[in-house]
Amino acid sequence: MENGTHYRTCHLCEAMCGVAIEVRDGHVTSIKGDEDDPLSHGHICPKAVALQDLHEDPERLRKPVRRTTDGWQEMEWDEAFDLVASRLHRVRKEHGRNSIGAYLGNPNVHNHGSLVATMPFLRALGTQNRFSATSNDQLPHMLASLEMFGHQILFPIPDIDRTDLFICIGANPMASNGSLMTVPDFRGRLKALKGRGGRMVVVDPRRTETGKLADEFHFIRPGTDALLLMAMVHTLFEENLVNLGHAEQWTKDVDLVRLAALGFTPEAVSENTGMPAADIRNLARQLATTPRAALYTRMGTSTQAFGGVATWLAYVLNILTGKLDSTGGMMFTQPAIDLIALGGMSGQKGHFGKRFSRVKKLPEFAGEYPSSTIADEILTPGEGQIRAFVTVAGNPVLSSPNGGRLDEAFTGLDFMVS
Ligand code: SF4
Repeated sequence: MENGTHYRTCHLCEAMCGVAIEVRDGHVTSIKGDEDDPLSHGHICPKAVALQDLHEDPERLRKPVRRTTDGWQEMEWDEAFDLVASRLHRVRKEHGRNSIGAYLGNPNVHNHGSLVATMPFLRALGTQNRFSATSNDQLPHMLASLEMFGHQILFPIPDIDRTDLFICIGANPMASNGSLMTVPDFRGRLKALKGRGGRMVVVDPRRTETGKLADEFHFIRPGTDALLLMAMVHTLFEENLVNLGHAEQWTKDVDLVRLAALGFTPEAVSENTGMPAADIRNLARQLATTPRAALYTRMGTSTQAFGGVATWLAYVLNILTGKLDSTGGMMFTQPAIDLIALGGMSGQKGHFGKRFSRVKKLPEFAGEYPSSTIADEILTPGEGQIRAFVTVAGNPVLSSPNGGRLDEAFTGLDFMVS
């Protein structure tokens, strides 16, 4: 790199903070937040500073390496490409296209090169055995977006800089910098919210970093969020607090939601959720009566048995109170490059259950099976058994359920490339 200041984006998490990297004589001399970045305004977290350690780590891979009986050996890129192409080709020729499995990790969506190149690569492989971090994380959000808004990545996000009430359930933006929300410097934005008289309410089984800064905090029993949200829906109807606002023209079957929520009184769910009925009613009233309010849910409500229904209900509540796509509520974004408008993400609005995995008959979502079943597909003999595997920027042994079994499964493959 040339001497001087290089302006880049930290790609380590979704916040995408702007960084200014000083370089002298080929060495990084400092990494600071870019004050002129329109989103992060100079904010960075310690991970950005540690980018220098990653860059200079003597153990960092600078060339492809190959596992041999004498340990790992470096190789040239051309040799590596040839090896990967020939081994994958051989497996596919002998056992069919579904004998190759592929897993994409979360950083693929923070990297322009990966975003552009990965889909054509997967299409070239032609395998149906595709997996990603999605099924360990935000799949219920994508399913709700697909079913309710018509596209799997059409996510409304909290209008954090203009809201007066931020209800945060099963999410920890102080640690995550806003997952599916992209909010660098959450602490600064929360301070601004409180400065204009706003409030944050947090519901979580654990008093999280975000919970510690809340104006109001409620414990909830893990996995019972759908009950809480349904009881809030019940309260809105019971107390005549439903007001769809401009979402009315896009919304149908509101009465069916009222009927579905009839039996879920706050009193009926109180014992299961561990939340007093009065608190549940109060939460629903606050959301309904604060003109600029957003109810946001994330991983805690997503990766659980009722993740799909909990995520759907969170959007239902925002719609019933007129908070969907209204100022200070849950708003659709206006990105500089609109992947949905461009027909991005391989032009798919998404689909669910078009086919099922070979061993456990689990439904696909947008062409991917749940990562929890990778090991089944490798270890179970038969037509379509996975015999070679590709991971791209992912570590499913650590991040998927029952990683130990997956670790064992990987050791039995004919070929694996990461
Ligand atoms: S919050 Fe930290 S890790 Fe995330 S993009 Fe900003 S500096 Fe990087």
